[in-house]
Amino acid sequence: MYDLIIIGMGISGISAAIYAKQAGLNVLMLEENAPGGTINKIAEITNYPGFSKITGPDLAMNLFDTITKLNIPYKLEPVTDVILEELKTIKTKNNVYQASNILIATGRTPVLLALPHVKEYLGRGISTCALCDGALYKNKDVALVGGGASALSEALYLSKIVHKIYLIHRRSEFRAEENLIEQVKHTKNIELILNNEITSLIIESNTFKGIKLKNKELLVSALFMYIGSKPNTSFLTNTALKLEDGYIITNEDGLTNIPGVYASGDCTKKEVYQIINAASEGALAAIKIAQNKTL
Ligand code: NAP
Repeated sequence: MYDLIIIGMGISGISAAIYAKQAGLNVLMLEENAPGGTINKIAEITNYPGFSKITGPDLAMNLFDTITKLNIPYKLEPVTDVILEELKTIKTKNNVYQASNILIATGRTPVLLALPHVKEYLGRGISTCALCDGALYKNKDVALVGGGASALSEALYLSKIVHKIYLIHRRSEFRAEENLIEQVKHTKNIELILNNEITSLIIESNTFKGIKLKNKELLVSALFMYIGSKPNTSFLTNTALKLEDGYIITNEDGLTNIPGVYASGDCTKKEVYQIINAASEGALAAIKIAQNKTL
């Protein structure tokens, strides 16, 4: 029986765990994959205080170090079901845990283009992680689709490894900070292909060979997809938790429509999805849970 179970060991869940532990709460963390979450896939972070520049995996490792130094217990077990009554019950494949409060900080997963063969060729020419797969395409030509901050920052990362990047965006305007757009526009081996869409993949002899656009074909070694993400909340659809497009609705303290159920970070409905506010939302939720316990 815990005071707080945190689902998700990304920066939001870990920030919550630090504050919860230091407030004397009996806390447990549950994580499906590697501690660190989405930041494990970010090549370079340049807007997190205290670090003029840090790689995502290095920041993830620092976060994990903090958890171990504070002796915060965690289990690498995917959550399969939750029962959100006065006492919260969390089921994983082999265990059942109970807590008076839970914090859902499960983040998001990249969206894939809805085209034939995309899922089949993930890891074999199709990628959603430049940091993980970029080195496989050293000095090759690749394509990258998307027009948000992720697409642009990961295109800049790839530009230092590959020979050429075709950056394909369906509109003429990008959805990112001006300095990022300017850097991309001034990078010689990034060719912008705007107002265009990928219509199919070129597959020959069971090998990814390139892509077809509306008006041309491009022979490339890989296609990186940065077209947004969807929240990791499918395990909540049978609960009474209020969701919008899969995102969890919370108040300013991170409290959902169910007492004792909090959510923070990228799985929540909000305007700004940044590492810094994911961290602060987790911390705030833990502070509120600790305050409520002492009332
Ligand atoms: P995003 O901002 O939602 O951008 C997704 C992009 O993919 C948009 O340009 C969108 O086009 C395009 N797109 C969506 N569906 C598509 C489809 N079916 N075919 C082709 N293109 C498609 O996602 P994101 O770039 O992953 O960023 C997510 C959040 O993280 C944002 O809030 C962002 O600010 C934040 N972020 C911040 C930083 C940073 O601070 N440096 C870095 C990365 C991410 P349209 O524009 O036409 O809709």
